[in-house]
Amino acid sequence: MAGEARSDCLFCKIVAGEVPADVVRETETTLAFRDINPQAPSHVLVIPKVHHPDAAALAAAAPEIAADVLREAGEVAAQEGSESYRLVFNTGTGAGQTVFHAHVHVLGGRGLQWPPG
Ligand code: C5P
Repeated sequence: MAGEARSDCLFCKIVAGEVPADVVRETETTLAFRDINPQAPSHVLVIPKVHHPDAAALAAAAPEIAADVLREAGEVAAQEGSESYRLVFNTGTGAGQTVFHAHVHVLGGRGLQWPPG
């Protein structure tokens, strides 16, 4: 059931402490940790502690936690000293989503081109 921890989900395992992560912030409902394959000098993932497969599913099921994730993304950017930053929600395999637990990429620490690739 959506919202419950999944034994086959990598990010649920990080939330449970079963897989290590470089955590930079934590709240009651969210966890923020450095991406192991950074695409910018500052590249942090913010995830809800509850399992939902993507950001839209999270917002539909638990809008208050989706808001927590967005608020934390801003707090991460501020903590990282990123005056300008980009939030990315890859959704679906065709868009590069590889972990099907909602997460937002917080990218900063360098100039970011637009449009993205
Ligand atoms: O948007 P996408 O689903 O591709 O993002 C998943 C991200 O999780 C990747 O950027 C990957 O580098 C990151 N990751 C991580 N720690 C892991 C496994 C994946 O930070 N143990």
